[in-house]
Amino acid sequence: MTKTKKVIILSHCILNEYSKVKKWDKDEKITELNTMDFLKFLLDNEIGIIQLPCPELKGYGLKRWGQVKEQYDHPHYRKICRDLFEPVLEQILEYQSNGFEIVSLMGIYGSPTCGISRTCSGNWGGEIGSNPDIQGTINTISSIEDSGIFMEEIYKIFENHNLDIPMIDFHKENLVSIIDQIKKSL
Ligand code: SF4
Repeated sequence: MTKTKKVIILSHCILNEYSKVKKWDKDEKITELNTMDFLKFLLDNEIGIIQLPCPELKGYGLKRWGQVKEQYDHPHYRKICRDLFEPVLEQILEYQSNGFEIVSLMGIYGSPTCGISRTCSGNWGGEIGSNPDIQGTINTISSIEDSGIFMEEIYKIFENHNLDIPMIDFHKENLVSIIDQIKKSL
């Protein structure tokens, strides 16, 4: 019996960390070492990879500030997200109609755009120079149980197309359990 061919959809920055918001305290690397182990697992198991586009890079460039979900939650950004996903949806439908299985779509734990189970929320924004309590404003930012804007839009698109594709957060501290979850579907 021939094995069903499998494909996974990965958030853009799993394969290209240069797309992320700049961190001041560490050198940027294209891919972290523990991510390599995950990618090796995919290749060893002959799982094809579709790389999602990065909506924040597309919408706000490499010099963007780190933002919270509330700042991205506006109609134009949601439209950017939907438009960016359209070509990926076409690929998903084409793979499925040719007998492939989409094992999962991986978001980014904690991201205001690509988080699935966690995102970043807070009362952040406005002119920094005229804020009398910048630390107080920063203190409103926290990680909460919710999805980012891109993942919310993808979820709706999956529902509209009756696509039952598991959505899992990529979390570097938790790669073993992520790999176990994917193994269950192999
Ligand atoms: S989490 Fe999403 S939006 Fe943020 S850098 Fe990664 S791919 Fe881009």
